[in-house]
Amino acid sequence: MNESQEWYGWRVLRVVGMGYEDPGRSVRTLRLMPADDEPLPTYRPGQFLTLRFEVHDPVSGQTREAVRCYTLSAGPGDREYRISVKRLVSPAGLVSNHIHDRVREGDRLLARSPGGGFVLDAGRDPLVLIAGGIGITPMLSMLEANFASPTPRETWLFYGVRNGDELVRREYLDHLAHSRADFHLRFCLSRPLPEEAGGGAFVHFGRVEPDLVGQIPSFAACRYYVCGPTAMMAGMIAGLRGLGVAEERIHHEAFGPASWLRAVAGSSATTLGHAVTFLRSGRTLVWEDDAESLLELADRHGIALPCGCRAGACGTCEALILSGTVAYAEPPDYRPEEGYCLPCVARPASDLALDV
Ligand SMILES: Cc1cc2nc3c(=O)[nH]c(=O)nc-3n(C[C@H](O)[C@H](O)[C@H](O)COP(=O)(O)OP(=O)(O)OC[C@H]3O[C@@H](n4cnc5c(N)ncnc54)[C@H](O)[C@@H]3O)c2cc1C
Repeated sequence: MNESQEWYGWRVLRVVGMGYEDPGRSVRTLRLMPADDEPLPTYRPGQFLTLRFEVHDPVSGQTREAVRCYTLSAGPGDREYRISVKRLVSPAGLVSNHIHDRVREGDRLLARSPGGGFVLDAGRDPLVLIAGGIGITPMLSMLEANFASPTPRETWLFYGVRNGDELVRREYLDHLAHSRADFHLRFCLSRPLPEEAGGGAFVHFGRVEPDLVGQIPSFAACRYYVCGPTAMMAGMIAGLRGLGVAEERIHHEAFGPASWLRAVAGSSATTLGHAVTFLRSGRTLVWEDDAESLLELADRHGIALPCGCRAGACGTCEALILSGTVAYAEPPDYRPEEGYCLPCVARPASDLALDV
């Protein structure tokens, strides 16, 4: 692996292996290597790949391009990348089902260089990793990196799922917890299966709640990494703040629309009334304050904008600002060019005209 080899634009990666790492087989792991056999750049634990697919869209019956982000689910240091993708069943997610049903070993995928700012800090404070469902993927990368380091940090992992069928890489986590005194594991089962009623090693019945996390000794001195479903993240971040954890110690990433950020941010200045013009569709709309983003406003009014992650991570929606300014609840992972914005996470801060 080579840090100087970061690439620009799209690069072809080959699928060199596939498998399932959860008993319920709803999370499919792909191993990826470069098609050109040139070295891969390393990445920081927690970063993701942006991938472009040609997928069959069952709604239109056409093949179309779709861009999605997937976190690298292994520690850096290999000659390959690994991602783990949860199948979204109802309603069926376009790309996750494509990956589960259509992608085969030997296929070629287009990828952007790893990116993202949800990464392990370089400090020495104990780590508290809090994952809900598929939010485990960055934590797996962080765990592998931490325990491969010559000076590992004491680490807690709280991993919330409905039941044991959904646990990804349970054997690895069990083994780590049994073999290391500096790793503390809680599988938090919110709807255990009847056969799980007796509990078991590292099992806690119930959701991952701030009060459970607050039982960690000297919890205010830890670094917190949170990734999971909207409601869990909003509750956890507010709870950690309520327990007195300093803002700069809490790191988080959402895998879907960033609507929860506004709830967590608390007061957000109202922007009701700004006029928003989408030049290419020839429409001007009045901003609606309950819309989470310019993309959602466009969606509501039948204006189709290009988009991928809906979380400010992939840059697919990047749009030229013709006039006006935008605001973000948090700086997006993908940094738009000067004079451009990301409609999927931006809101208008004045009257606004976009070249989309
Ligand atoms: C930084 C980042 C990292 C990520 N890492 C991972 C990861 O490691 N693993 C992973 O599995 N995912 C990850 N994701 C999420 C991933 O990028 C995709 O969003 C996810 O796979 C869903 O894509 P999809 O095309 O299958 O679903 P989409 O088709 O985009 O659908 C998204 C959601 O909308 C729902 N939906 C679809 N159609 C409708 C409809 N008509 N009406 C109502 N609802 C509908 C779907 O059920 C789904 O819940 C990450 C996202 C980001 C931003």
